[in-house]
Amino acid sequence: MSPSRLSLPPWDRRALLDRDVEDRDPESVQRAWAEDTARLLRVDFESRFTLDPFGIPTTGELPDDVAFLGRVGGVAWFAQRVDRIEGGATIRDFRLNDLQYQTVSAGLAVLNWHQNTRFCPRCGGQLRYTRGGFVAACVICGREHFPRTDPAIIVAVLDQSDRLFLAHQSVWAKNRVSILAGFIEAGESAENALYREVAEEAKLEIEAYRFLGSQPWPFSRSLMLGYVARSHSSGQVDRVELEWGNWYSRNDVDRGVATGALNLPGPGSIAAQVISAWRTGTLPAPED
Ligand SMILES: [Zn+2]
Repeated sequence: MSPSRLSLPPWDRRALLDRDVEDRDPESVQRAWAEDTARLLRVDFESRFTLDPFGIPTTGELPDDVAFLGRVGGVAWFAQRVDRIEGGATIRDFRLNDLQYQTVSAGLAVLNWHQNTRFCPRCGGQLRYTRGGFVAACVICGREHFPRTDPAIIVAVLDQSDRLFLAHQSVWAKNRVSILAGFIEAGESAENALYREVAEEAKLEIEAYRFLGSQPWPFSRSLMLGYVARSHSSGQVDRVELEWGNWYSRNDVDRGVATGALNLPGPGSIAAQVISAWRTGTLPAPED
């Protein structure tokens, strides 16, 4: 009997990071920056950061390119983009704790938005960031803009024998495989996208599915909606986005990982957690 839900730490419970939305006015942000305990998380343009130390004390005047993320246990957290972090790694590479994941994912989300949103989408005017970096106000038309998130589905498709469909994207490193994923199109529901993506990419018809949970994924601004699904189709990849793909039993995956024929996703992703749950028999069944 498989469990009815999957625990996906650190995304599936109340956040440690209090986003402190009420205190994003300039004076409160200034005061927070000057607090002795305040911390600054620095990330580079490759989304790298360090775990040791994780964040440094804030010093001097409040720079105008930092974002105020909120508070964890009363400690104010800020984020800033820097040119290069030596010896850093990305969110893909670690299984982060709640504090680390929530501050990094909030920081990258807002800093990526700053990097990619230079002008007012309505009139082309200059933008001025306010509210701790979470609002961009147009200096010409006054319209306020907010960080955007692109929802995507990611799905572990199982066959009748509980084999998992894994596929390799042509742009990936050799032997890297993962479960199927794709962006939700404008005006489309998540469920519609789920059926469409697995049909388009792998010619799989879904018979049943279950929502597992979600993960913010800051490459560059996705929200991954995780599912498990059942299909009776034989499956065939499109050979455009997916170069090859197949059904794998748990033994096939164990053997593939041991020999290096299969490289699974890094530990930080929802894909890694879902695949790991399937390998240990703790992934909920798609059927009610
Ligand atoms: Zn404008």
